Amino acid sequence: MAIRNRGTIGGSLAHADPAAELPLVSVLLDAKIITRSRSGERTIAARDFLLGPMTSALGAGEIITEIRFPIPPGGVRFGFAEMCRRRGDFAIVAAACAVSFDARRRCIGARIAIGGAGSAPIAIDLDGAEGPDSLIAQAPEAAARAADPAADIHASADFRLRLVRVMTARAIRQCFGDAPPDAPARDANDA
Ligand SMILES: Cc1cc2nc3c(=O)[nH]c(=O)nc-3n(C[C@H](O)[C@H](O)[C@H](O)COP(=O)(O)OP(=O)(O)OC[C@H]3O[C@@H](n4cnc5c(N)ncnc54)[C@H](O)[C@@H]3O)c2cc1C
Repeated sequence: MAIRNRGTIGGSLAHADPAAELPLVSVLLDAKIITRSRSGERTIAARDFLLGPMTSALGAGEIITEIRFPIPPGGVRFGFAEMCRRRGDFAIVAAACAVSFDARRRCIGARIAIGGAGSAPIAIDLDGAEGPDSLIAQAPEAAARAADPAADIHASADFRLRLVRVMTARAIRQCFGDAPPDAPARDANDA
């Protein structure tokens, strides 16, 4: 409770834990990180900011002053799934996705971001996926190909890879919710 109430988005990004949720979501949403030091201001894309385990692009004497999340276009729906052994733990693997729909409310593609399966969050884009069945068939394998999990005390590399597939499929399914395939997407104000 204390961490949830007192932790900051900037602190989590600067901390750069490869399994943390906020860095993952920042990569998914193309956040821009504004930093400041005596030599001036920089704007760094989230995927360029998170360099590796506990390693960010922050230089000596530089702090995060602002994080900008672009408003997603209308017709995007989001899903998120993670696996951890105890409630509130860091995820072993987490997947977040944004599925895009066109003006006729047909699913036209997806971005998937994976945490806990590489030295930093990984993002992949699947363009032209034409519906939930196609996406659910393609996305887990595409995510697994992009992932590069290592073994540690929490899980083997093989188990993490398996979780990448399962969490990706769950996150993608969430985007469709209980609604029928290719149902109305939420507009940007709901995002
Ligand atoms: C028991 C426990 C469980 C946790 N579980 C999770 C979890 O499940 N998922 C998850 O994502 N995280 C988890 N965390 C991590 C926690 O969310 C992060 O440590 C927190 O978000 C960091 O935010 P903070 O603002 O407290 O930063 P701090 O802890 O104060 O700082 C973290 C680092 O970032 C630097 N820093 C902070 N702010 C800035 C800034 N503006 N500019 C530059 N550098 C800065 C600090 O110097 C420090 O090196 C857990 C932590 C604990 C202790």
